[in-house]
Amino acid sequence: APVIWWIRRDLRLDDNAALNAAIASRRAIIPLFIRDALVDNIGAAAKIRLEEGLKALSRSLRARGSKLILRHGDAESVLLDLAKKSGAGMVVWSRLYLPDTIERDRGVKAAVQAAGLTARSYAGHVLFEPWTVQTGQGDHYKVYTPFWKAVRSRDVVLPDSAPDRLPAPEHWPDSDTLSQWNLAAAMNRGAGVVQKHIAAGEAAAYERLATFLDDRLNEYGIHRDRLDRDATSGMSDYLSLGEISPARLWHAARRHVEEGCKGAETYLKELVWRDFAYHLAYHTPRLLTDNWREEWSDFAWQEDQRLQAVKAWKQGRTGVDVVDAAMRELYVTGRMHNRARMIVASFLTKNLGFHWKIGMDWFGDCLIDWDPASNALGWQWVAGSGPDAAPYFRIFNPQTQAEKFDPDGKYRARWLAKNHSDPSDDALAFYDAIPRSWNLSVDDDPPDPLVDLKKSRTDALDRYERFRNG
Ligand code: FAD
Repeated sequence: APVIWWIRRDLRLDDNAALNAAIASRRAIIPLFIRDALVDNIGAAAKIRLEEGLKALSRSLRARGSKLILRHGDAESVLLDLAKKSGAGMVVWSRLYLPDTIERDRGVKAAVQAAGLTARSYAGHVLFEPWTVQTGQGDHYKVYTPFWKAVRSRDVVLPDSAPDRLPAPEHWPDSDTLSQWNLAAAMNRGAGVVQKHIAAGEAAAYERLATFLDDRLNEYGIHRDRLDRDATSGMSDYLSLGEISPARLWHAARRHVEEGCKGAETYLKELVWRDFAYHLAYHTPRLLTDNWREEWSDFAWQEDQRLQAVKAWKQGRTGVDVVDAAMRELYVTGRMHNRARMIVASFLTKNLGFHWKIGMDWFGDCLIDWDPASNALGWQWVAGSGPDAAPYFRIFNPQTQAEKFDPDGKYRARWLAKNHSDPSDDALAFYDAIPRSWNLSVDDDPPDPLVDLKKSRTDALDRYERFRNG
């Protein structure tokens, strides 16, 4: 009886406890990806990224004598149907930690067991499963630094390497095809532009990681905030789909710490922010949808009459160079530098005064590294409504930020077509990436400033003062 390896956010053969358990059972393995409602609900860019990830995984399974089976439908029905037709006796998967996945997986586990199959789940999507980190009082953590201190010296299980071959079943079950699914269609705009910036799959992740460790990790602590440098690891989209395991990155960075590499400790700290986001989202799921600080439900965000301003923010047309550059980077590449994420989030929630959820949802649609926990935590951190958040009155001045983190204006020049005589390829790519309905051309650059930075800052502080005084 074969084992079904139900693949969700662990598109990898390396360091995969669920796959290793399937191999240890010495049975044939059916690798299965199900396009269920949770997959249908992800954003357009995340869908494109997933499609590329599935292509890469499918190739690497073929190279190991195996095959990726794709099925569409409710996870429980798909699994039961496949088990019946293939005679499978066991289903294995890697655990996920957010409310929608937990609910689905509980239902699946019960149904699979009721049908007489064995269901087993394994750790691997985070470094420290959310219930394994507790304060001295047995509570969960709400502040990052004590969380970091609690985990920094912990043992993380050493990663296992990828198997050379996966035992194949005698008959392969039917599979949908990726072209049938056409996941890229969700991006009702220049999908090809974003695709060009994706290098999916495990091999690509290792290649990128190797150059990061060799060339950039040492200086990571110094340069990671620079918008004009490629100074960070670029691991987030790989982590989001599980094409690389966080334990791989942890051990790689730990080794460098031991060798005296300066940036390695800072890198570990950043990596642990991802775990912290999962820790919080698991223990207080409202982080994902509502103000973590409940009193923030009374905050007076701007109402709909200024939605024109939201549109300008999304379109990278606020007239504030660094904000517009970042929003265009997002649209063209599906990524945005972390510092830029903070700048545009501060601009939307403070200078423009809009609810952080508007920004979170837009990021959800545009990011190829979309991660519900990190996205929600990032937005609530900037807005001031989250745990361990930046205080509301700390309003980023985009100009000062740009001077500090893009001192020669290279980042802005790369993404803005202000200089009509010689715009960069990336600045022009923005116009290929956007939907026709935006009706924008390079001749519309530069846009007029949407708000006065000084006045909008004072207005934001006034709003906050009124909120605090009830
Ligand atoms: P590196 O600097 O190389 O960091 C290594 C890894 O550490 C990252 O891949 C990521 O997994 C983790 N990490 C680093 N910083 C953070 C952080 N602040 N919070 C959580 N994890 C972190 N990250 C996502 O992966 N998906 C999101 O949807 C997302 N949305 C965000 C929204 C806002 C408003 C903000 C401020 C941040 C958001 N982040 C998100 C966090 C961060 O911006 C990205 O993880 C980072 O830019 C990815 O680039 P990198 O892999 O080169 O990072």
